[in-house]
Amino acid sequence: MNAEIIAVGSELLLGQIVNTNAKFLSQQLAGLGIDVYYHTVVGDNPDRLKAAIEIAENRSRMIIFTGGLGPTKDDLTKETIARHLGKQLVFDQAALESIEQYFKKANRVMTENNRKQALVLEGADVLPNDHGMAPGMVLEQDSHIYMLLPGPPKEMEPMFIQYGSQALASKAGTKEQIVSRVLRFFGIGEAALETAIVDLIDSQSNPTIAPLAGDGEVTLRLTAKHMDKKTANTMLDEVENKINQRVGHYLYGYDQTSLLEELMKVLIGEKMTITAAESLTGGLFQKEITTVPGASAVFKGGTVCYSNEIKHQILNVKQETLDTYGAVSEECAIELAENAAKIFKTDIGISFTGVAGPDELEGKPVGTVYIGIAMSGRPVFAEKLTLAGSRAATRTRAVKYGCYYLLKALKESQNCK
Ligand code: ATP
Repeated sequence: MNAEIIAVGSELLLGQIVNTNAKFLSQQLAGLGIDVYYHTVVGDNPDRLKAAIEIAENRSRMIIFTGGLGPTKDDLTKETIARHLGKQLVFDQAALESIEQYFKKANRVMTENNRKQALVLEGADVLPNDHGMAPGMVLEQDSHIYMLLPGPPKEMEPMFIQYGSQALASKAGTKEQIVSRVLRFFGIGEAALETAIVDLIDSQSNPTIAPLAGDGEVTLRLTAKHMDKKTANTMLDEVENKINQRVGHYLYGYDQTSLLEELMKVLIGEKMTITAAESLTGGLFQKEITTVPGASAVFKGGTVCYSNEIKHQILNVKQETLDTYGAVSEECAIELAENAAKIFKTDIGISFTGVAGPDELEGKPVGTVYIGIAMSGRPVFAEKLTLAGSRAATRTRAVKYGCYYLLKALKESQNCK
């Protein structure tokens, strides 16, 4: 089975956006054992799209389109494909209802072109859009499989993972079940992770192990194929166990989760309250945790203690500590975390102090970061990091490390219970 990905959108040809959809889909298809032979990009023009479809049909069995499913005039993908295949467009009741619901909830008037998004190719299997309006679809005709996906990655990616990959597998006629699991790691680089498991990656063909790095994290997608789903899952368990024997202490979660989500799950589950004293990160940690629904149950409030004056006067860091060790020090991070928890009467205090750059501070190089963690029931501690990258990257990564160290400490405490 070979595939071609056709990304539709003039913005791509104008260089206004990068074709990340092709990148994502190629990785996914590789995980499914489907060979991608061509990436095509075509503008919002029905004649050129039709020409691209004809070329693709001559060389690929599976043709996957992204983009052009929206409500505006230039969104022509499904109309062009329908005309080309001699198919009608029909309303999908579930998609229509979900679009109507959306407008009702938002208290907005639904226009006729919004209804258009619920039109699907007759005879197609519909892929629900859990993050937007336009549904995706899969259709088989004359030995070709056509899959239509929306353009926005935040809609397309979950749609493909949740519904698309299984639909492709069954359309491709494989009776085999394809089961995937994403392992998420933090605190280890891609190269180090790959080196630790290179023999497993090289020797495995079913399940396959595909590493992917981004945003300071590394993920491994494990994909197993078997006639029986349960056996496929057991195969994944076995290879995951082998991986975890080597790098399991860096594993923090599975599939679509994030460090922040995992941390908040534990805090909410354990009913532990938290505060933060942020110098380096200027409130970024607090902003992040308040994006998670249910944060109010655990987050009481916190401080941005940018100056030494505020560290001393509000958070009671000893003047002697600031004079002797400086604000960017293990000692200061520890006092900030401990005192913040005392002042805000919370179970946990976390602090961030460091040098974001571009200039060094107190003779400490750019990228020096200390994260203090005070948690009831265990000794206060601070972790030192030396991060490389821009000012923004240092701050973002410091927050991620904060979530990681705290999550690790919470899990250790849970294990001791
Ligand atoms: P919408 O309902 O938003 O119009 P759509 O399915 O019609 O969705 P497009 O209009 O083609 O999709 O694209 C919408 C947005 O999705 C683009 O502005 C861009 O931000 C993103 N997008 C589209 N195609 C790609 C792609 N190939 N790679 C990355 N992003 C893309």
